[in-house]
Amino acid sequence: MTTRPVLIAGNWKMNGTADALAEIAAMASAARTLPAHVAVAVCPPATLIDRARVAAGNGRLIIGAQDAHAEGCGAFTGSVSVAMLADAGARLVIVGHSERRADCHENNDDVKAKTEAVLAAGLMAVVCVGETGDERDAGATLTVIGGQLDGSLPQATAGKLAVAYEPVWAIGTGRIPSPDDVTEVHAFIRARLVARYGPADGGAVSILYGGSVKPSNAASLLALPNVDGALVGGASLTAADFLGIVEAA
Ligand code: PEP
Repeated sequence: MTTRPVLIAGNWKMNGTADALAEIAAMASAARTLPAHVAVAVCPPATLIDRARVAAGNGRLIIGAQDAHAEGCGAFTGSVSVAMLADAGARLVIVGHSERRADCHENNDDVKAKTEAVLAAGLMAVVCVGETGDERDAGATLTVIGGQLDGSLPQATAGKLAVAYEPVWAIGTGRIPSPDDVTEVHAFIRARLVARYGPADGGAVSILYGGSVKPSNAASLLALPNVDGALVGGASLTAADFLGIVEAA
């Protein structure tokens, strides 16, 4: 049986300036005493990654990024490469978040190229998938997620891949799927990973749940089969809320 660590990752989105570094320091301090099977990451805006790395010190809090360009360098005004993020201190990159898929028109090919670039640089890639409310209402959830997995996942896992199931309708809304729905989708993702990478590599990929995770619902979500952690937006902005989720792991 594969034993996967529990990963709780925070996505600060476009929030946070220097005064938020105290939250990072508090998270890093708490991370030092976590059980060995729990890993914690926080992904501040790119402008804060270097300072977040310093604020976190040499402990167990992983500093990550929210996106990366697939190319290493060149004429891509405003973009940041994986090498630049790694140079600043990032060890993990979120790719294919639904806000980037919708707002920045990123398609599966774009997400796959970014994921390959992240893994090639030796960083962890957290690939996001999830259905909209209309897609769920139409009974198309598994078809949508299957298509996103087929199109977005890399050729090989390279050992540092995680998938985040984030129903778009649950992000920032306070609504979460039923335990049966989360269980169904995570089992589906696990089966697709095993079919694609084989039992060992496919079984080693962590599958995170994301969408309105709070301290009050984290324990019940994390107890579900194939839920190997959480991707947390709003509740990751303060150490108090985020650590309330981490403590449930
Ligand atoms: C997210 O955007 O990845 C997310 C999970 O947001 P929230 O926790 O705020 O729903």
